[in-house]
Amino acid sequence: MRLKKYEISVKVYFNILPTTLTIICLSTMSLLVNETFYSLLGESIYAGEPAFFIRLTGCNLRCKYCDTPYAFEEGEKMSVAELVKAARASRATQVLVTGGEPLLQPATVRLLDRLLAAGFTVMVETNGSLPIHQVSDEVYRIVDIKCPSSEMSRHNYWANLEVLTVRDQVKFVISDQDDFIWALAVIKGYHLLARAPVLISPVFGKVEPKDAATWILNSRLPLRLNLQLHKYIWGPEARGV
Ligand code: SF4
Repeated sequence: MRLKKYEISVKVYFNILPTTLTIICLSTMSLLVNETFYSLLGESIYAGEPAFFIRLTGCNLRCKYCDTPYAFEEGEKMSVAELVKAARASRATQVLVTGGEPLLQPATVRLLDRLLAAGFTVMVETNGSLPIHQVSDEVYRIVDIKCPSSEMSRHNYWANLEVLTVRDQVKFVISDQDDFIWALAVIKGYHLLARAPVLISPVFGKVEPKDAATWILNSRLPLRLNLQLHKYIWGPEARGV
């Protein structure tokens, strides 16, 4: 397939894959959806609460520890209206939009707004490489900061840290103690604890929860240990939970 000039510049600018181009070219009324399901939130300060999940297809990053590579490509097109209807049918009171990277798709902001208008508590999980100011601050935004061991930290969109509100949360996924030390420098350098709750999330199977807990306690900072609850409940390979 021949790429048009503007498509080439987008690809080079974001260093993205052809599938991502397809997603970017979707209309503002429909999305590529990897899966939807009703379960307990596995992460964030609301872990353990029930929610309707919408996992969108596509990601512009390739973290070394990624546990959802199936969301890179697989998906079905659904309209914003169909997704709001599915959320209503689940009888959930809150909805999490996740990925992949949900902010890659042009219709995501519209979806979030429609979910808010329908009366849901709405959360979005983003990998932190794209601007979050486009998302209403009525949405609870859970923003990753990629640590060095992800090999994606050069993609962090640091300006996001300036627009955080009390509704938002910042999450560091750590693969080792060096990541934790790096996270501490960022937390202090950007005064993150004055801006939003800060989550420390050890990679399942790579960092023992008690090691992460010890590092947090030794730091004497009010950080929050974020275990991936869904993996402890349903197993690390389970999907749609
Ligand atoms: S940002 Fe998330 S979905 Fe994308 S590669 Fe990293 S862990 Fe996987």
